[in-house]
Amino acid sequence: MSTEYETLLDRAYNKLPETVKEHSRFVTPKVVALIQGKTTFLKNLGEISKAVNREPDAIAKYLIREFGTSGTYDSQHLSMKGQFRQNQIQEKFETYLAQYVICPDCGRPDTKIMQERRISFLKCEACGSRHPLAAIKATVPKDETKKIAVGDEVTVQITRTGKRGDGMALLGQYVVFVTNAREGQRVRAKITGIQGTRLFANAVEILK
Ligand SMILES: [Zn+2]
Repeated sequence: MSTEYETLLDRAYNKLPETVKEHSRFVTPKVVALIQGKTTFLKNLGEISKAVNREPDAIAKYLIREFGTSGTYDSQHLSMKGQFRQNQIQEKFETYLAQYVICPDCGRPDTKIMQERRISFLKCEACGSRHPLAAIKATVPKDETKKIAVGDEVTVQITRTGKRGDGMALLGQYVVFVTNAREGQRVRAKITGIQGTRLFANAVEILK
């Protein structure tokens, strides 16, 4: 294994503050959507907003803008003109989380958006880090987050053990944390969560 690879894994892991390494990880909320005729209804806008501690208004506006459509919403529901599948909405929602909610340093959602001299910052209450929102966007290219989705299966080589016993592997720009996998194993794993450039997965098959 190359030193460069080791360094990447080290860096990714050491970025996680102790408190985060210990605590249970954030589970990305699932959108519930329904197409009726030429309209798409997001039925749990209220719930997902509450789960990520953002205003329904902000999420609704983001989705409407991203889909390039028009829509109406209240604190619980959103309806958008056009037919959008639930997994398309989920993808956009996860991009929203990566840009406006998830701390790029520790992967926790315990953040606030703060304004300072016309610059918006994402301030993390879990690890204390602070990032200008514009900079976070730049580090999460949309096409990269689209490539891998929850439920996808990937094959990775586990090259290290995380402190919680997870197997760790690198996959392109992502660091993958695989439960039920050990260092040295090559596994097929199913993605169960995505946080920025961190993927969480369960091993479904040990290949060797
Ligand atoms: Zn943080």
